[in-house]
Amino acid sequence: MTRARKKCGVWLIGAHGGLATTMIVGALMAGRDLVSTAGLLTETEPFDQLGLPDLSDLVFGGHDVRETTVYQSAYDIYKDTGTIDIEKLQQIKDDLDAIDADVRIGTAFNCGATIRRLAAPKARRRQGTLRDLVRSIQEDILGFKDRHGLEQVVVVNVASTEPPLPPEPAFETAKGLRQLIDADDRKALRASVLYGYAAADLGLPLINFTPNVGSVAPGIQVIARKNGAPLIGNDGKTGETLVKSALAPMFKYRNLKVLTWQGYNILGDRDGEVLADPENKQAKLRTKDGVLSQILGYPLHTHVGIDFVPSLNDLKTAWDFIHFQGFLDFKMSLQFTWQGCDAILAAPLLLDMVRLAAFAQSKGESGLMTWLSCFFKSPVGVDQHDLHFQFHHLMDYVKVHLEGGTWDSGLVARTGQVRLPR
Ligand code: NAD
Repeated sequence: MTRARKKCGVWLIGAHGGLATTMIVGALMAGRDLVSTAGLLTETEPFDQLGLPDLSDLVFGGHDVRETTVYQSAYDIYKDTGTIDIEKLQQIKDDLDAIDADVRIGTAFNCGATIRRLAAPKARRRQGTLRDLVRSIQEDILGFKDRHGLEQVVVVNVASTEPPLPPEPAFETAKGLRQLIDADDRKALRASVLYGYAAADLGLPLINFTPNVGSVAPGIQVIARKNGAPLIGNDGKTGETLVKSALAPMFKYRNLKVLTWQGYNILGDRDGEVLADPENKQAKLRTKDGVLSQILGYPLHTHVGIDFVPSLNDLKTAWDFIHFQGFLDFKMSLQFTWQGCDAILAAPLLLDMVRLAAFAQSKGESGLMTWLSCFFKSPVGVDQHDLHFQFHHLMDYVKVHLEGGTWDSGLVARTGQVRLPR
């Protein structure tokens, strides 16, 4: 298959954050062969036969509510965590500086006190009705698309975790959502919903890596489908939950009854600071919950703790204790510790998904990209959390395309079945 050489835009909500910066730096460095492509699934077989956009064909821009530069964000990561090599960083400095012109001030509307405190005065002051805010988000993205002559722009939400939204029936439909925006109903909405709505309304593919579920609310899904945009969320699966969703099926395969699964996470970067706010933490705990009982098929005693430990920076540490029962009702235990660098684990997944979302849209697909469920803690439209099932689902999607078939996006949602790859 011939490789598409068209440029593909990537619009990052939270463009100055740790994840977005690592993603940009990684794409530029790997695109120039300064680093290997380790961590990127789309660089392996059979993904490399799909004709996905090259890393060097990605063009970056985005919104943030903090004022800094892309280079400064990358330099801070070098200083704080050492994950970015300073000599290689100097080699891509001009490219990073050029991206600054495409990063615009976003809206901190209803994001919680911690984000408002971190946000630049310009973002806090951003005035106008909700409709005005949506319009200005769209103008920023369209301006970027025009300036670079891009055919496609994939929107990626990697902004901070917001406090959860109260249940709102109007979110279920496109009409309800439009009415809330037009009525300027400020209590019912948050910035993530406005960004999600703006992308779907423009027909742009949307990846919501955050636990902010409003970004891909049912009403937004309807609008995306109608406008030919594929979308997926919520909350990237990169650490403790990834290990859980790979390990829990093992207990099932041996009929070992899990009695208790206690997990305790400590993290120290800005994400950790935002999650230290009890309001914002609630959204994260919701997406982490429910994985185990779904995989095992019964309720169990489980608890997830998250604490902010500043000295750890981006090295998130999780300790999990699993108490289980076997033959003769004998009780045993398994414990693991996980120390992963959040952004290093997450950034390649985002690059994989951007390339695959652009591919999906180029094939005329729209609506939920359920086949990307293996990348999410709480995948919308898939109630199966077993990592093995989710991975086969992705491979099934790739296989259908490599065989020249048409993907039936409703298949898994309707039947819960997936064809195993040969
Ligand atoms: P970060 O704090 O480094 O970056 C978030 C960025 O979003 C900041 O630059 C902040 O200024 C910006 N922001 C906040 N509110 C905004 C708004 N309304 N509009 C535009 N920009 C806004 O966090 P991070 O480590 O990069 O994580 C980003 C998101 O991804 C978080 O929601 C996190 O929970 C989620 N996530 C991360 C991982 C991972 O890193 N492994 C896994 C799952 C989910």
